[in-house]
Amino acid sequence: MSKGKSVAQKLMSECGIDDPTKFPLDLIVFGRGATLIEKPLQNSEGRIVFGEHSAIITINSNIPYEGKKRFVIAHELGHYEMHRNVITVHNDTDATLEYFKNGHQETEANEFASELLMPEHLFRKECEGKKFSPDLLRQLSERFQTSITSVAYKYFELGSHPICLFYSHNNQVKYWKRPENYPHFINDRTKLTPPEDSVAFEFFDEGKIYPKEQSKQPIWKSTWFELKHWEDDNNFKFYEYCIITPRYNTVLSVVWEELK
Ligand SMILES: [Zn+2]
Repeated sequence: MSKGKSVAQKLMSECGIDDPTKFPLDLIVFGRGATLIEKPLQNSEGRIVFGEHSAIITINSNIPYEGKKRFVIAHELGHYEMHRNVITVHNDTDATLEYFKNGHQETEANEFASELLMPEHLFRKECEGKKFSPDLLRQLSERFQTSITSVAYKYFELGSHPICLFYSHNNQVKYWKRPENYPHFINDRTKLTPPEDSVAFEFFDEGKIYPKEQSKQPIWKSTWFELKHWEDDNNFKFYEYCIITPRYNTVLSVVWEELK
């Protein structure tokens, strides 16, 4: 188990927290001995400053979603629990809060936040027997009161239907992930634009954002994956759901296959 995850589980059992949505997060932070402040921040979403005996966590009050705020608070609490001897001042931006390819400490803080907000056993229980869809991710995000992005990563790790993730920023694919033993190979477009027939491309190209009811968009297998010469694109059912953050110009494409 990752360090972030095990530290979060230990904290929950020490504090007697069973379901994290039943405890105000600020009380948990205060209970651990840190101070939490919410105010407008420039160029950062959260920040932690360590003093000799304590620490001040500041959260950007301009974050538009409550769930995202909770994720940032939990991320900073992760730094507080794990890195107090290593860092003195730390700023988090949308880039450090992103799950893909981050420094060691950022990964630990994200894994901590993910487990604190969505404990594995509860998450598995909520997914059980439910068909994968954008609606399911939205339901999970409401259930656990955390950002839809953090839910997508958690689902990638624990969910019952395999999904692939592609993260693009400023019309460039930055990173992608596919499950181990996934039967399809990804066309590596790192540092290139998203494929022209992808939903991500539609956003960067013309600002297109689909309404909730249409957020599950059919795509070709060949859009993101290698199509073998003996395969026919018509024989596959692939979908793309884009989680778009316009203020950072980022798109997280969730891509999955449904069997015919
Ligand atoms: Zn951080």
